[in-house]
Amino acid sequence: MSKGEPKRAVITGITGQDGSYLAELLLDKGYRVFGFARQESWFRSAVFAQLGTRIEMLFGDLVVAEDISSAVEEAKPDEIYNLASQSRPGESWAHPTETMMINGLGPVLLFDAVRRVRPRCRVFHASSSEMFGRTTSWPQNEHTPFDAANPYAAAKVYAHQMARIYRQSYGMFISCGILFNHESERRPVHFLSQKVAYGAACAALGILDSPGLNERGRPIVQGGKLFLGMLEVFRDWGYAPDFVEAMWRMLQQDNPEDFVIGTGQLHSLRDLCAVAYGSVGLDWNDFVASDPALVRPLESGRTLADSSLAHARLGWKPSVNFESMVSKMVDVQKQRLMKIQNTLPGSL
Ligand code: NAP
Repeated sequence: MSKGEPKRAVITGITGQDGSYLAELLLDKGYRVFGFARQESWFRSAVFAQLGTRIEMLFGDLVVAEDISSAVEEAKPDEIYNLASQSRPGESWAHPTETMMINGLGPVLLFDAVRRVRPRCRVFHASSSEMFGRTTSWPQNEHTPFDAANPYAAAKVYAHQMARIYRQSYGMFISCGILFNHESERRPVHFLSQKVAYGAACAALGILDSPGLNERGRPIVQGGKLFLGMLEVFRDWGYAPDFVEAMWRMLQQDNPEDFVIGTGQLHSLRDLCAVAYGSVGLDWNDFVASDPALVRPLESGRTLADSSLAHARLGWKPSVNFESMVSKMVDVQKQRLMKIQNTLPGSL
């Protein structure tokens, strides 16, 4: 970067939840932002609709070595944020090979392109709390051993280890964020938190069969009921904009390091349902049921973040609490559904 020129950043996975928030954050900070995405996804995305004219696009697939290599050559980035992923652990059972390619091999192709083409570029890589899986060590920090419980997590462990190997072998600046669950109103409806927010919004509006479909192609809400998998699930759920702030801070450090990023607050799925339905004055017990067909073959344990290193080194802490986040998600879902109702009266 020459003096006076803006920093250049590439975001892979720019069409996703985190990509959209990170693009906004970096543009606000005066960065020149390059997005890396599959072409068909980009033109369908909300990020394109909102920020399309401010982002320079490099089209490609993370699992194609030439695509990521040319993107690094063309963008000449100072920073790369690798967010691209098959990011649904539950879905990874159905597509274990594809998940390994995108979540395991893809990051290595990226690290290697940076090593060859732009070795001084700083890289953030999105690792996941799912890597802790069934660990009995609690809460989890940067030293907790991994115990992956699904193909998504196993692929993330591989990429995480390769990030460390590239960092140590080649002196590269690669930092991994071991990210605990983070949600927002921008989460697609097939993610658990958003499904619950959507279910609560449907209940508030008296919608018995929802227009939105679940992973089995059925309405998310059927006959007034929201069907979920196992209800005995415990997670540390934070707000996505807080997490992209942590990603950026990680690349502003003097040295690369891995950080656990999470709120340190544990909530059950029942809590999530109680807050979501409670925010519209309803009792979730009347609207939510468990469907054994949606239960994962092996459930991860109680993952809870110990983010003291991020607090100490990055000055990072979450700014939005669980209750405010969930209420906001329900509210936004309600507005979206009302818009559909108004466009197509009688359609819901
Ligand atoms: P997301 O909304 O699902 O976004 C994933 C992005 O990856 C999408 O833009 C997707 O593009 C892109 N992608 C998938 N396969 C690709 C490929 N082969 N080539 C190029 N792009 C590809 O995920 P997110 O919630 O923003 O999460 C960001 C990162 O954090 C992910 O790596 C995720 O695993 C990790 N993480 C997230 C959480 C969380 O709770 N959100 C927790 C832990 C870790 P398409 O539109 O083309 O599919």
